[in-house]
Amino acid sequence: MEPELVVNEIFGPTVQGEGRSLGRRCAFLRLGGCNLSCTWCDTPYTWDWTGAGDSGVAYDPHQELHRRPVREVAEELLAFGVELIVISGGEPLGQQRRLVPLVELLTARGLEIEIETNGTHAADPALVAAGVRFNVSPKLAHSGDAAHRRIVPAALKSLAATDGTTFKFVCRDTRDLDEVAALVSEFGLDPVWIMPKGQTGAEVGRHMAELADAVIERGWNLTTRLHTLLWGDKRAV
Ligand code: SF4
Repeated sequence: MEPELVVNEIFGPTVQGEGRSLGRRCAFLRLGGCNLSCTWCDTPYTWDWTGAGDSGVAYDPHQELHRRPVREVAEELLAFGVELIVISGGEPLGQQRRLVPLVELLTARGLEIEIETNGTHAADPALVAAGVRFNVSPKLAHSGDAAHRRIVPAALKSLAATDGTTFKFVCRDTRDLDEVAALVSEFGLDPVWIMPKGQTGAEVGRHMAELADAVIERGWNLTTRLHTLLWGDKRAV
């Protein structure tokens, strides 16, 4: 039987809004489900069925999640005519075994693949072998998730040892950078990108201004949230 993915939304062409590929033209595959429940999550519609997040909205999984055959998903992504596919969530590595055939179909057509993950799953070797790049975003205490849920040492060490992985931390102010530094030191995370928390352009700008000098001083990289600056919290852009 053909494998299926639990999909929230597929959209493009757009641009990658964060991290190492900021501004690159791409298409997005957003998968459903997450093993964490960050209070400020900007995609609660992929997992929050009880209104646990800051928005207080209980989303309907029957509306938000769609079982889609891998081949159909691949065809929809290929039709965008982009060179880069970003697979995000939710937490996409929760479905990583079923992602392998999709990634193989896409890379066979010359596409580059980046997976955004929260760093609590080690990557399937078949995804690594296919050339997927991982953008890992471990969550800090301000996410509201318990430490033992958001920091999985074996997964972080495995991802840190995977070629081409980057680490991206959502931060509010310079105090969060000490927490990042402790994780970087304990697990050998490199390279590091710091991204301001924010779901409006004003919030992103405020946190960015507070963080910038200290991030540069610490030898890390800084990224904005381009999609938020351009489109606010509008979905599927
Ligand atoms: S890990 Fe990501 S998708 Fe999951 S709750 Fe946190 S911010 Fe949302």
